[in-house]
This record gives sequence, C-alpha cells and structure tokens, in this order.
Amino acid sequence: MRLLTLRLENGTGTTAVRQDGDTLTQIDGFPDVGALLKDAHWATIAQAASGATYPAEGADLAAVVPSPGKIICVGHNYRNHIKEMGREVPSHPTLFAKYQESLIGPNDDLALPQESDTVDWEAELAVVIGKTGRRIPEGQAAEHIAGYAVLNDVSMRDYQFRTIQWLQGKTWEKSTPFGPALVTQDEFTPGPLMTSAVDGEVQQSTPTSDLVFTPEFLVSYISTIITLNPGDVIATGTPGGVGHAQDPKRYLQEGQVLVTTIEGLGQLTNRVVKEA
Ligand code: ZN
Repeated sequence: MRLLTLRLENGTGTTAVRQDGDTLTQIDGFPDVGALLKDAHWATIAQAASGATYPAEGADLAAVVPSPGKIICVGHNYRNHIKEMGREVPSHPTLFAKYQESLIGPNDDLALPQESDTVDWEAELAVVIGKTGRRIPEGQAAEHIAGYAVLNDVSMRDYQFRTIQWLQGKTWEKSTPFGPALVTQDEFTPGPLMTSAVDGEVQQSTPTSDLVFTPEFLVSYISTIITLNPGDVIATGTPGGVGHAQDPKRYLQEGQVLVTTIEGLGQLTNRVVKEA
C-alpha cells in the first residue's frame, strides 16, 4: 500500500490518501499519514477507505508525515560514504536529530539559506514507525515499522562542522524533502537502488541494502534509549557521492533541481530557491 499526505485546494488543510495507480483516495477522518498511523488499525482503515478521489498526477503533496514526534538521523551508515569522509566503520550508530520545521513536500522548493553557501545533498532511506515500542528486540523490530519513504538530509556543511555536534547543519528550515509516499513493508524491502541527481547529473547511486546498520537493528537500538511512536522517522544515512567529498567540492546553487529517487518508493524533485 502507498499512503500519502495531500494538500487540499484553497488552503483547506491536508488529508491522508491511499494511492492505487493514477488515483488517490481520501482516508476520511485523518488529516495526514502521521495522524493515520496513530490509530492501531491504520492498515485496515487505509485499505478499506473509499472517500473522495483525486488524480495522482500533479497532486500537491505535503511531507508524507508532516509533523513526526521524532526525526532521528543516522550518520556514517554506508561503507562508501564512511570511506569518502575519512572515517572508520563504526561499532555503534552515530545518531543526531532533525525537527519537523525542516521537512518539505516531495515537490516543494528547497530553501537555500542566506547564511550558508555549502549546502549539500544526502539521499536517504527513511523508516517510518507504525507501532509504539520500547526496548524492541531486533527480531520483533519489523512489526514496529509501518514502511519506508525517501528523504534527503540536505546539510549545511559549514554549520555542521562548526562544532563536534552536527545538529546546526542538519535542521535548517524547509530543507528536508520527505515522501512522496509511505510504502508499506509488504511492498518494499531495502535493496533497490537509491540515487540523487543535481540538474540531471547523478551524484549518488548505491543499493539501499549496503547499510552497515539495518532498519531492524536501528529500531531496536534507538528504542533502547527512547520509546518509538507511530509516525516517528529514522533517516538511515547517506551513501557516497555527497558534494562535500568531491574534488573540487560541490554544493547546491540557486535554481538547481535536486532529484532523489529510490526504486520502488518514488522520487523527490526539489528546486533550490534562495530564502528572501
Ligand atoms: Zn544524513
């Protein structure tokens, strides 16, 4: 099943929808996919939904979960990115946070802040939680995953490396495209190719199966620390090919279009627009 958050016309809010081919069907009573996931029967409700329909083509989509309780990001989780950044393969995951104000829809403009000229791309597989849990054993972690989506952990490298804590380079306003759909686990298993491209030129291209720490391991590890709730997001890290590691270094420029794709999940297409 593919679940999305659709912006309704005339600014009348958003609604959770189910996508079947070219058609989006409203899931009545749920303003977005995050609200839907909070109902323990979300999968049955979404499957049975028969509300108003909309064409999928040209739909104005919000971030698939617009306001997650937590967005936890993983650094250094693909061997080719660890190598290009000059690091050792870690024994424990590197974790940091991002806040919901960073999120934008799959086709929204990406805000290029006035304060940074080292804005870089990080294509990532996002895990969306579908069931509450604390200290979830790795063997049961799959039961807590609602599904997967595409995310780009766009990073302001100058701010990221000002101190040893990365957060200030990772959570800029309106900089993290997330969507287009939550694809449930029965329809997606990590493995398919993930790519990022800038103005059509491929920058990153790595199978999502090359993760050092798997989604199930991360759910278990993070839930040891804190309860994971429905709608929480884990961004599982980026592979090699970021602009900061290229020679010469490359960063996003105003007017460029960043396209982030995971085969089977979908595509994010975001124009880079300088903040006023
Ligand atoms: Zn990242």
